[in-house]
Amino acid sequence: GLGPYDDTNIFARILRGEIPCRKVYEDAHVLAFHDIAPQAPVHVLVIPKGRYVSWADFSATAPDAELGAFCRAVGHVARELGLESDGYRLLANMGTQAGQEVPHFHMHLFAGKPLGPMIS
Ligand code: 5GP
Repeated sequence: GLGPYDDTNIFARILRGEIPCRKVYEDAHVLAFHDIAPQAPVHVLVIPKGRYVSWADFSATAPDAELGAFCRAVGHVARELGLESDGYRLLANMGTQAGQEVPHFHMHLFAGKPLGPMIS
């Protein structure tokens, strides 16, 4: 499993400003930035500022205000980037079999080309 939250994970370091990122959006609860190794022409990561290791953790324990802010921020990013007409894909890897690498919950947003079948 992913274990307890580890403040040395890469996204915690980005949130603390210790590592730079290409910021797309930020508010009190959420940060969105471009993935360092994009798998589509547009590949953005949206993360809560709170300390949640995974979707399981975030969905079960985050206050409603943080859950709401996160959902609205994802939509805001898509709108701001002009993705609504052509569309986009949201994906969150949860745990080992999904291949989650960074133990700070994040949503991937992919866009910019036809994305093909959902499971690779
Ligand atoms: P996961 O496999 O955990 O769902 O996705 C982690 C994502 O974080 C990967 O797409 C990876 O390219 C991205 N990533 C890892 N380290 C960094 C980093 O230092 N900066 C940015 N912007 N993205 C990162």
